[in-house]
Amino acid sequence: MLDWLIIGGGIHGTYLSFYLTRLKRVPKDRLRVLDPYAKPLARWDECTRSVGMEFLRSPHVQSLDHDPWSISTFAKTRAGQPLAQFIPTHNRPSLALFRAHCDWMIDRHDLESLRLVGRASGLEKQADGWRVETDGGTIDARNVLLAIGATEQARWTPWAQKLRETDAPIHHLYEPGFNREALPYAGHLLVVGGGISAAQLALSLAQSGARRVTLLMRQEPRVFPFDADLCWIGGDCGTNFATLSDYAARREIIQRARHSGSVPADVHDQLRAAVARGALELCIGEVAAAEGSGGQAISLRLQSGDTIHADRVILATGFDAARPGGRWLDYAIAAYDLPVAGCGYPIVNSTLAWAPGLLVTGPLAELEIGPVARNIIGARMAAELIGRAIS
Ligand SMILES: Cc1cc2nc3c(=O)[nH]c(=O)nc-3n(C[C@H](O)[C@H](O)[C@H](O)COP(=O)(O)OP(=O)(O)OC[C@H]3O[C@@H](n4cnc5c(N)ncnc54)[C@H](O)[C@@H]3O)c2cc1C
Repeated sequence: MLDWLIIGGGIHGTYLSFYLTRLKRVPKDRLRVLDPYAKPLARWDECTRSVGMEFLRSPHVQSLDHDPWSISTFAKTRAGQPLAQFIPTHNRPSLALFRAHCDWMIDRHDLESLRLVGRASGLEKQADGWRVETDGGTIDARNVLLAIGATEQARWTPWAQKLRETDAPIHHLYEPGFNREALPYAGHLLVVGGGISAAQLALSLAQSGARRVTLLMRQEPRVFPFDADLCWIGGDCGTNFATLSDYAARREIIQRARHSGSVPADVHDQLRAAVARGALELCIGEVAAAEGSGGQAISLRLQSGDTIHADRVILATGFDAARPGGRWLDYAIAAYDLPVAGCGYPIVNSTLAWAPGLLVTGPLAELEIGPVARNIIGARMAAELIGRAIS
């Protein structure tokens, strides 16, 4: 029996594997990270590649290391120097630098050796821990940490879902197999979405080829440096959050605090410049109806009465708000009476335990950590809370 099984080896699972083995001295042969991908952060790589982003939205102090200065130190090394680019003000690192730093952390702490390839499909309580069913057999562990993220649940709007069912040329940038680079170089591409990923995708598509690119947003992009204010990280904003007994109020606070549909100023400037030089069209409107099937072009009628015809539509509408995990987690919740709030998300204690030996991080820890739980910094915040219960 393992001491720890972390389910999910993205940013959160990989950070927690580092934290537990290096900072909490869990012996390496007592901990494993289960993930469908053999390589750590493979899903992060897929998502960031699909978007075509060049810089992170978060500052350099938020990384896969516990030490907030780790990326800036790494940026001065031979490996880091050629990639050492930052967006000023908050020193947001280039994606290439962030990713090289992750690889450096993974190699340095031998984190890849902790991985097991597989997907969890069931959870069964045992006298001294949990049994996890996987596609490759069962694994027993005293502690199971759910780090499954939300990036496997792309949000399809109802009109888009209907088009998808008719085999129309529509994609979601977070669907499995989406390949930005394989999109046609000619014709009219329409990107639908209101936030930074939609903006970055449209900008990257507009950079090359003879195609026409339109970005359809519900409203003019709002400008915020981050997707939630920095005061949520150890500042005043979160002071009373975790003491609220009303979980509906906590959910409301999270929704209000997350600047969804916003972009940082540099991305906003790039959008405006691309529009000004005619590389990109920005259209503000909401889809009222959609038509298209097979290989045919898609027509979107907007609530304003205007119609857009596109050869291909790419949704950049983020992730579904439903609790990640799906059916196997639903069964475990029902079988063991795991407490959930009205929004379906776990109600956990102050050390992120959902039940004895069952812990959460990422979106599943959102009602305890607050609006930054899903972000890179959320992994460090989760580790600190989980660590309080470990001697
Ligand atoms: C394009 C993009 C850019 C972002 N940029 C930033 C940024 O600049 N700064 C920031 O702070 N945040 C950013 N985020 C938000 C957040 O940091 C990322 O979404 C990050 O990937 C979350 O990490 P995670 O480990 O929670 O989830 P994931 O990366 O989704 O990893 C979860 C892993 O769990 C696996 N998994 C799921 N179900 C199971 C199962 N049943 N069994 C086993 N494994 C399973 C998945 O396959 C996946 O490998 C960004 C997100 C996206 C999509």
